[in-house]
Amino acid sequence: AKPQVVVVGGGYGGATAAKYVRMWSGGDIDVTLIEPNASFISCPLSNLVLGGSKQLADITISYDALARHGVRILRDSVQAIDAGKRTVTLAGGQVLGYDRLIVSPGIEFMWDQLPGMQKPGAQERHLHAWKAGAQTAALRAQLEAMPDGGVYAMTIPAAPYRCPPGPYERACQIAHYFSQRKPRSKVLVLDGNEDVVSKGPLFKKVWQERYSGIIEYRRGFKTVDIDVAGRAAISELDDHVKADVLNVIPPQRAGAIAVQSGLANAGGRWCAVDFLTFESTQAKNIHILGDAILAAPLMPKSAHMANQHAKVCAAAVVDLLNGRAPEAKPMLSNTCYSFVSDKDVIHVASVHAYDADKKTLLVVPGSGGLSSAPSALEGEYALSWARNIWSDTLG
Ligand code: FAD
Repeated sequence: AKPQVVVVGGGYGGATAAKYVRMWSGGDIDVTLIEPNASFISCPLSNLVLGGSKQLADITISYDALARHGVRILRDSVQAIDAGKRTVTLAGGQVLGYDRLIVSPGIEFMWDQLPGMQKPGAQERHLHAWKAGAQTAALRAQLEAMPDGGVYAMTIPAAPYRCPPGPYERACQIAHYFSQRKPRSKVLVLDGNEDVVSKGPLFKKVWQERYSGIIEYRRGFKTVDIDVAGRAAISELDDHVKADVLNVIPPQRAGAIAVQSGLANAGGRWCAVDFLTFESTQAKNIHILGDAILAAPLMPKSAHMANQHAKVCAAAVVDLLNGRAPEAKPMLSNTCYSFVSDKDVIHVASVHAYDADKKTLLVVPGSGGLSSAPSALEGEYALSWARNIWSDTLG
């Protein structure tokens, strides 16, 4: 019988890994991908749905092409992992055995850190839209329904969280929409960090030059609770900030299945891995990818990175299942584009190489870079980046 690889989660990490294990094994490894969602909805570009220049349909992609690579897709979710027996149990009751398990479950929200948000109805009222899909459309509807002169506020958790520049891109998108349609409205950014986490000087220049009078930025606003009925974010210093539309991005940890299975061995929050193979340091034969891992220094939780983790992992899994030692020197790259209007974009890029002494991935000195200013040309690059990664991950 062929070796069995089971992949948990068909997001950026899992779908890429499933495809590449099939391709690089020449079809000699059976791959089963477990994913509850009927189709893939991209978080990258989802802020443009909030800004109004894209629709949810533009960022929704079918899983059908993965099947053409011979990936068996089960629309279900994994409820339990038994690392000793090397099995997973699905919500539907099925038990699958594996030789190697690849887990890329994304993030889980830590609602216990915002007690008000655990009350009935709170999460339907104050949306996160930090997993693209129904919440993205619902937040857009809240913005459309908000009268001109209203206030949209967003709370940002302390880093690390999914997509370091994502909240600031969102602020730009919503400010762009307001500038066109509701010019008396405000965007209030309540940042749990001491400063803008990514591309700070670029974002702050854009806010000053394009959105002054619309975007107000408050640093060090550590949100500790939400007054659900009063539509207010409450800070550590008991500052209550009220908004017409309150967008709560909660603190995050590795996806629930990783936490429940004991794989989140870094403070109960993230999963430590060996960067040569992305195998868990906690459990043998289980590899973990994407946002769920304890990242290497300066490594963002991004789709681009999850895709890169997946390729290092897929190559290692194919080698290991063929009795070969995995490649000793992985090299990964990342680019995060941010739309500051419907067309203009800024980016940050980096290259990360394995350091054998430190046993981690480190940024290559002098690699990567940053935009000097937003441009429409970078807007073209950003859309082309999205088409490429969708095709690489799912095509
Ligand atoms: P995901 O892509 O979230 O995939 C996880 C999958 O696992 C999901 O499909 C989920 O349904 C499934 N799953 C979870 N639990 C189970 C289970 N028990 N059983 C089976 N399946 C399960 N990154 C960029 O590189 N560029 C960008 O421009 C960018 N923009 C962003 C904008 C926003 C607004 C946001 C929120 C994020 C953005 N990101 C961007 C970040 C990017 O979306 C994430 O880093 C990326 O999705 C991580 O991939 P992943 O595989 O770890 O998780």
